[in-house]
Amino acid sequence: MRNVIGVDLGGSAIKYALITEHGNILYESQLSSKADVSSDAIIEQIKKAIADVFDYAQTQGLEVSGVGVGSPGIIDSIKGTVIGKAENLKGWENIPLVSILRSEFDCPVYIDNDANVMALAELAYGAACGCTDAVFLTIGTGIGGAMIINRELYGGFRNRGAELGHTPLIAHGEACNCGSVGCFEQYASVTALLRDYKQLLQENDKTIPESIDGKYIITKYHENEPEAITALNRHCDYVGYAISGFINIFSPQRVIIGGGISETGEFYIDKIREYNQKYVINDCGINTEIVKAKLGNLSGCIGAASLVFTA
Ligand SMILES: [Zn+2]
Repeated sequence: MRNVIGVDLGGSAIKYALITEHGNILYESQLSSKADVSSDAIIEQIKKAIADVFDYAQTQGLEVSGVGVGSPGIIDSIKGTVIGKAENLKGWENIPLVSILRSEFDCPVYIDNDANVMALAELAYGAACGCTDAVFLTIGTGIGGAMIINRELYGGFRNRGAELGHTPLIAHGEACNCGSVGCFEQYASVTALLRDYKQLLQENDKTIPESIDGKYIITKYHENEPEAITALNRHCDYVGYAISGFINIFSPQRVIIGGGISETGEFYIDKIREYNQKYVINDCGINTEIVKAKLGNLSGCIGAASLVFTA
């Protein structure tokens, strides 16, 4: 059986694991990504993570067949280069990561966008198992997206597309980090949900608690707090609305929703389904189910490893 190192690079941490072809985790750990320092610091941390797994494999007498890396931003997966647009990683652009890692570790190395690899993981072992066509969204600080068409990731010509979080949703809307305005993620990310909720509290002269996350708002929603109800309904309305566009275009078998907020349960997905029903063309969505991602925390590592298994 082949074993592969999967590396999931994020804004705060690098998660990494040694994974078998069946998706089992033999070893896992994490390191700070040093994303606020420099691209050189990030590269050093990635090398450290990979070296740690090689050390483990050696002590256990295990072979390592390659390394897969999932990174935020636009990735040229053919050249193995990070192109850029990863807002929370300092200097993370124009980096020939595959050749850097190959010269260090002398094994096959593959890289793709982090949302793409999470979708690959869900396709191989999770909620998209058995699907030929699926759309994957991860709702967090921003919104990542990926499409699977005919059992393969679709990223457009030279993998420059699939930026579903930057689908134009509102003309002349809120400014977005990508340089445009009115993008889906500006309205439906958890960041947008928190902003909306805080603004509603302020308008109603209520105290804004110091630390709020998506889960807090959901708890308040269940306690019937009017601001939480308004903010969460608006959030699910935007998500359901945008998904209607993806269904009308791709008519996937599944739309899979990942990210921390999706882990709050079936209730959250139900609300999105409810709003989606209002907007989707029924004939396009007739075969589509909206479901929660199955693989949790390590889906990025598992998907990164499947870049090697499917190469
Ligand atoms: Zn945008």
